[in-house]
Amino acid sequence: ETDEINVCVTGAAGQIGYAFLPLLLTGQCFGDKKINLRLLDVPQAESILQGVELELQDGAYPLLKSIKTGSDETTLFKDVDVAVFIGGFPRKPGMERKDLLTINGNIFKKQGQALDTVAKKNCKSLVVANPANTNCLILAETAKSIPKQNFSALTRLDHNRAISQIALKAGCSITDVKNVIIWGNHSTTQYPDVNHGTVLGKRIRQFINDEAYLNNAFIERVQKRGGEVLAARKNSSVMSAANAVKDHLHDWYFGTKQGEFVSMAVYSDGSYGVPNGLIFSYPVTCSNFNYKIVQGLHIDEFSKEKIRITTEELLSEKADAFSA
Ligand code: NDP
Repeated sequence: ETDEINVCVTGAAGQIGYAFLPLLLTGQCFGDKKINLRLLDVPQAESILQGVELELQDGAYPLLKSIKTGSDETTLFKDVDVAVFIGGFPRKPGMERKDLLTINGNIFKKQGQALDTVAKKNCKSLVVANPANTNCLILAETAKSIPKQNFSALTRLDHNRAISQIALKAGCSITDVKNVIIWGNHSTTQYPDVNHGTVLGKRIRQFINDEAYLNNAFIERVQKRGGEVLAARKNSSVMSAANAVKDHLHDWYFGTKQGEFVSMAVYSDGSYGVPNGLIFSYPVTCSNFNYKIVQGLHIDEFSKEKIRITTEELLSEKADAFSA
């Protein structure tokens, strides 16, 4: 255990990167570890990346030990402990999902090869860029020398949105709500599940006592929240996405609280009937930068159907991505 950690952030000239870096550098992910920061972006973003570096200098962060910037993965992934993949090609009007999968698939293959060659073998990866689950799968399948359990995609924003909606409905505080689950894909087919959660120690369904709301409006609101923010802000949800990246890394590294779980998209091992080899959002407990998928939860018919729908979508994304 050294008191330093090597962290690479891709897409670091972008919006989420800009909102995430101050959280990282104020110790909110890895405590008081000194950070050797590597910022990666495409060559066209070089000047912006330099601007970000100037601002990081001006932040005078005591935890920031060193910075490297650039566009070459092989240089910037060298000996990394943690890689956060925020950079991705955005969906443009008229683009088919398959085109997006192919373009991002190629980016993640290239990055996977570099990670495989130069990163530490215990390097942990978090993919944020969309389609996050499938990008993460391509990364994990390409970086073969790194264990599959070291890869994850972000569904923590969806998880946080679900907690927050329940707290608002229940009229209680965020910390009173525990153990909601996001199953499946970080997309509108995700299934926000309240069946195993509690408010002030009471089952959510009992506490809220509104089945119609929980089975319809609540689910839809969480699934489509990104669109709601986009419409209102005329810009995507950047601040809350960066906050979720911080929460995901913090809990993975420091561990979840006793009796509590969080949602992370991880390499499926067949749990809950989901086929092996998808990056699937599950309830997990964490300790020491390891996670375990929560086992033994009873899944009712309503939930089974929702989980089936998001599984189908991930299988078809996988088929499209790997047919390219
Ligand atoms: P953002 O920083 O806003 O978003 C980055 C990625 O995160 C996008 O793929 C976006 O998906 C995804 N994302 C996941 N969750 C959310 C969420 N809740 N809200 C918004 N986005 C979310 O994008 P920018 O365009 O500002 O920055 C992207 C950067 O990536 C640019 O600097 C670009 O140059 C860089 N880039 C880097 C590459 C590389 O490193 N090889 C390759 C391509 C681009 P969605 O598009 O669905 O919103």
